[in-house]
Amino acid sequence: MTKALAHVLTLGAVWLVSGSAAPSSEASTPTAMTLEVAESIPEPSAPPIVPFAERPHVNLDAVWWTAPRHETVERLADRWGLPPEDLVAFNPSLAELGAKDRVEVGTRLCVYRFDPALPSRSVGAPNQGHLEHGAPFIEGEAWILREYRPRSWATRHVVTELAAQLHAFALDHPDAQPVKLGEFSQRGGGKIKPHRSHRSGRDVDMGYVMLERPEGHKHTLATRATLDAAATWSLVQRLRDSGQVEAIFVSASVQEQLVPHAMGTIDAAELSAVFSVLAPDFRAEKSAFLRDVPGHAAHMHIRFACTDGDESCRIAQRRRGKKGHGGKRRKRGKRRR
Ligand SMILES: [Zn+2]
Repeated sequence: MTKALAHVLTLGAVWLVSGSAAPSSEASTPTAMTLEVAESIPEPSAPPIVPFAERPHVNLDAVWWTAPRHETVERLADRWGLPPEDLVAFNPSLAELGAKDRVEVGTRLCVYRFDPALPSRSVGAPNQGHLEHGAPFIEGEAWILREYRPRSWATRHVVTELAAQLHAFALDHPDAQPVKLGEFSQRGGGKIKPHRSHRSGRDVDMGYVMLERPEGHKHTLATRATLDAAATWSLVQRLRDSGQVEAIFVSASVQEQLVPHAMGTIDAAELSAVFSVLAPDFRAEKSAFLRDVPGHAAHMHIRFACTDGDESCRIAQRRRGKKGHGGKRRKRGKRRR
């Protein structure tokens, strides 16, 4: 039995039968017992419907962080956009400190704890909605987070999915540089300047995979001298194959650098489905996976899809679909997606 088939059979009893989408990282891992049951299922004649690749499990029960400076509780809470009382609730030992007392640098602090009674939801459209019970992005070796993180929140689904994909990507590309993560959403979502979207917990700005390790606060322009185009294409392909990402905004100048690497991995029809830059009127092409939205030559903007159970997110999608993408016309200026 091939390795891939073994995975499919393992999945048979768990996901394929129910016809649901690919499992999120929060789904329980198939157990040995599942495998026993699955092996009695005859080999399918048709190819598997749900692609499956091994992926790391992301534990999002709690998020821990190390205090980077000798600072007060108020200042530390501010780094995550948390009310100080919430930080104290997550870390009861902080209650003993006075308002002016400082926490030792290097102290491990909990900044998030999962409460199953409070499901994480993306509510409304990305340019109008908000985020309920979001989670902060976790620390990991395959990516670099900013030191100041009040805009590092997303739905639990987005955090687990992106962390798992980035981690798996790094395992496949041990020589690739870590990517720099930028803006997500605020803890409760809503408007953040200068963005038009990033309001509902499913938008993420992420630097491209670069030839040098990214330093500093800003993303570096992705040129032929700076961009690791082969690795970036591989990461984009992985995100697309996950089925969890709706679209990625990537400037035409960067798409052009990725196309040669994609040509060996997907056929002509797929190339057109992925790259807006291959369309005759590429600025107008809105159905491709990679879209040329101006302002994305130094970072990509990943828009995750609504999850199956998130009706508040889907209702907004349907309403938007009826009106079309128009709405108010965007003013020219420094607004970003
Ligand atoms: Zn963005």
